[in-house]
Amino acid sequence: MSIIIKTDEEMKLMRQAGRIVAEILEIMSKQIKPGLATKELDIIAERELKKRNATSSFKGYRGFPANVCVAINDEIVHGIPGKRVLRQGDIISMDFGAIFQGLQGDAATTVAVGETSPEAKELLKATAGALEAGINAAQSGARLGDVSAAIQNFAESRGFSVVREYTGHGIGRDMHEEPQIPNFGLPNSGPVLKRGMVLAIEPMVNRGGWRTRLNNNKWTVLTADGSLSAHFEHTIAITDGEPEVLTKGEYA
Ligand code: MG
Repeated sequence: MSIIIKTDEEMKLMRQAGRIVAEILEIMSKQIKPGLATKELDIIAERELKKRNATSSFKGYRGFPANVCVAINDEIVHGIPGKRVLRQGDIISMDFGAIFQGLQGDAATTVAVGETSPEAKELLKATAGALEAGINAAQSGARLGDVSAAIQNFAESRGFSVVREYTGHGIGRDMHEEPQIPNFGLPNSGPVLKRGMVLAIEPMVNRGGWRTRLNNNKWTVLTADGSLSAHFEHTIAITDGEPEVLTKGEYA
């Protein structure tokens, strides 16, 4: 078990993969409105990947049938786009990964469908903030537990809980590389972060408790208590200075 340090050449390709992910998430985000069937997002993702000579990280991964994961309201992650139609006030998470010349990028965002409740807005803000706190902690010389603890503290201090059974991950030639990055943990624990490590940091934050359940389709993960959930993710590179966000875009 070791965390792979990327070469400069790999970093170049990962920046391109990250940019592709960001561009396509932005295109999908702009389509979010009441009446949209989530299947439409998958069609957009497939078309836009093709235009960019990229492929999906998700389609075919352990048999997953789509290019993008969607999760609405109490769904947390891994939902399959389909006939379900978005309604005013829903929140929808889109998790999307792309492979460009063998290297991967992975990001997620949660957006409101039209006007949503103050509670949902608070949750989106807290989850985006938790991601930002995690990224800020991902400095060369810091330890992985510092990232996990920063995410947990941010979310819990706002009265929310972090999902424990699903984690962030290293990323590179494989979508899921070492290390696993839990969204909870203790500061000053775990491996030391070094320049050239690339991490997908992805807080999943619930309004209620942290426990989850699996839908009958064996893919969609939901909150056990039916509370709302949000998910934000970026792929970032550890540098000698500030972390470099490879999937930065106008979608969150
Ligand atoms: Mg991920």
